[in-house]
Amino acid sequence: MTVVSSGEGVRESVRGMLPELWGTLSELVRLRSVSAGPAEPLAATARRVAELFRAAGLGSADVITIEHGGSTSAPLVYADERKHAGAPTVLLYAHYDVQPADAAQWQVTEPFTPKEVPDGDDTRLYGRGAADDKSGVVMHLGAVRALLEQAADAPVNLKLVVEGEEETGESTLDQYLAEHPEDPRFQADVVVVADTGNLRLGAPTLTSTLRGIAVVDVELRTLRRAVHSGMYGGPAPDAFMALVQVLSTLLDRETGAVAVPGLADQDYPWSAVSEESFRADAGVLPGVALIGAPEDSLAKRLYGRASINVVGLSGVPGMDAATNVLCPAARARVSMRLAPDQDTGAALEALRAHLVGAAPWGLEVEVTAVGRGTGFVAQRGAHHDAIEQALREAYGTATVEHAGQGGSIPLVAAFRAANPDADIVLWGCEEPRANIHGNDESVSRSELERMTLAEALLLQALTRP
Ligand SMILES: [Zn+2]
Repeated sequence: MTVVSSGEGVRESVRGMLPELWGTLSELVRLRSVSAGPAEPLAATARRVAELFRAAGLGSADVITIEHGGSTSAPLVYADERKHAGAPTVLLYAHYDVQPADAAQWQVTEPFTPKEVPDGDDTRLYGRGAADDKSGVVMHLGAVRALLEQAADAPVNLKLVVEGEEETGESTLDQYLAEHPEDPRFQADVVVVADTGNLRLGAPTLTSTLRGIAVVDVELRTLRRAVHSGMYGGPAPDAFMALVQVLSTLLDRETGAVAVPGLADQDYPWSAVSEESFRADAGVLPGVALIGAPEDSLAKRLYGRASINVVGLSGVPGMDAATNVLCPAARARVSMRLAPDQDTGAALEALRAHLVGAAPWGLEVEVTAVGRGTGFVAQRGAHHDAIEQALREAYGTATVEHAGQGGSIPLVAAFRAANPDADIVLWGCEEPRANIHGNDESVSRSELERMTLAEALLLQALTRP
């Protein structure tokens, strides 16, 4: 049995294969694997990803599907290389599906036509999925290859899960695993989720907490039909105006802090978040105040508290169809991010009670839950030091940042339930400039190199007895 001990070998391996990995990332961006889009590009992407991992040395990589609740998942790439009794098992997770993209809104390139743009000493690759999460697929590919190039029989058991439904919000895998945490296919000592990013480009970061999510639709009805605002406006209540009254109670008028009682908040030793870089990353306009409980740090407001926003409306016509009529019914979709340890059921109930209590003029509010995802708090498992060391070594830094993430990855909670004692590592190439889910998504080549190296160094460290 070969025990790999030097980090120099994997460093050379990663450096040598980087041009090829960068090309593979471009190739994957061209495949229009939009999770809500046609099935064939998803299937083609899964087949290609499986082929790449077989070529990298995971002979068991294959395309499978998961059955759950009468439905079949999108194709999922799965590998299970259990060759070393007693050695640690690492499960590598990423997703190949991407968010849709509106080409008219993109400036640098068409969303599925990858384009390289020089960025100082670095290069960025633009395209939908370049960061979220095809960079995660390529990181795993590079790390596995680098490890196996050093020692084909490296004593570590590797599993791979690359799914195609992450961006749908509620993936079949997520729901299946939540109900079948004992399934041996998803058991591991270390789970590496390559689907987050550094606090800043080049600042090695572990994502230690994730906020949960709860989404409801709220509906108000005031009239049997739309009527002329000149003939009836005044005494007759417009449903949209009533809805606005309800929605306006969700945030405190002075501070903008969430005003729904009964929601959890959490403290954690996150790295400080600089207001200046937060403003720049979020694109907050000059003169616009940041909102939230004034006594909380920016990190706590961002990672440890609930936030509430309206993400969709119906009932009131768009500006191009505006006429002078009263709106008989109006609906809003209200989306809440939750403290990492918040119970989602309790949060939905708190929101429902608040909305119902806020209805004006004797109206009845109808509240329907439409989605939820549990948050996550990392624990320091047996391999935590090796994980931090791999990041320090890859970046040549003395410290590792600990960030929360505002976003939710529901599957992480399912991985936790399936592996209560495992180290769950959340990292990746989705630093703020990547603008994931937005227009002109991109990824940094130096970040891809160093994150791939960090993961390769971690795999190598796990081969040591
Ligand atoms: Zn993602």
